[in-house]
Amino acid sequence: MIDPAGRLAARRSETLDLVEALRRRLAGMFESSAYTTNDDEHDPEGVTIAFERAQVAGLLDQARAELRALDAAEERLAKGTYGACTRCGHPIAPERLEALPATITCVRCAD
Ligand SMILES: [Zn+2]
Repeated sequence: MIDPAGRLAARRSETLDLVEALRRRLAGMFESSAYTTNDDEHDPEGVTIAFERAQVAGLLDQARAELRALDAAEERLAKGTYGACTRCGHPIAPERLEALPATITCVRCAD
């Protein structure tokens, strides 16, 4: 079994890279749109840009939420409660922890 601390650290560095990449992409979108019209409603391209921007902003929110979840997971690991479902207290399946290292619930409680 892979060491959970190592897995959390690996996931954290991946997520940090993702946040940085999305942040730069979003900043680039704002920069390029500063030179075009602000009249999104009447400019078909403006609508597309606004849509893409909202999508990237949504992905960025998700990545930041994942970082917070990873922080919390590291705290649980330090306290010795990592890997236990926060709802029912049963151990979370190792496959689930491998796929979602920051998860706080077992499969049954996640439904
Ligand atoms: Zn549970």
